[in-house]
Amino acid sequence: MRRCNWVNINNPIYVKYHDEEWGVPVYDDNKLFEMLLLESFQAGLSWECILNKREFFRQAFDNFDYHKISNYKEDKIEELMQNKNIVRNRRKITATIKNASIFIEIQKEYQTFKNYIWHFTNNKIIYEQHKTTSPLSDEISKDLMKRGMRFVGSTIIYSYLQAIGIINSHEKECEQYQK
Ligand SMILES: [Zn+2]
Repeated sequence: MRRCNWVNINNPIYVKYHDEEWGVPVYDDNKLFEMLLLESFQAGLSWECILNKREFFRQAFDNFDYHKISNYKEDKIEELMQNKNIVRNRRKITATIKNASIFIEIQKEYQTFKNYIWHFTNNKIIYEQHKTTSPLSDEISKDLMKRGMRFVGSTIIYSYLQAIGIINSHEKECEQYQK
């Protein structure tokens, strides 16, 4: 099977992610939050590293339940800082808690986070390759930061938009191209 060049075909987790998730439109708020959390932890690391730890993140962060996460207190932060299986970065952990509460505020404003994130393109999918930021990711990043989110710079948001299928970046040679 032909795939995007960047896929490490020796890592089954990565291959499965590329084939079944990356670039597939996400309309479910739980999944939209899960990917936002994982992307924010990626800053400075590889996506492959985060993917490998994904199930540990799921256990550590209450199955990515943003209501629970928004209520985490200092004792839970300490517990997470002791968890060797996730990324132990206090700034990212506290940002995640803050981001969860802002995620809920956005839901209140737009009914769903899905409505919010897809309104930027009028529900359209953008097909483009070989970029790491764009005017779209700049705009969304700026809006999220204005609302108080952290670890949502334009590069992280561009990667997020690819993950949730608002931007589809499968390469021409890939079997998933323009699917
Ligand atoms: Zn591909």
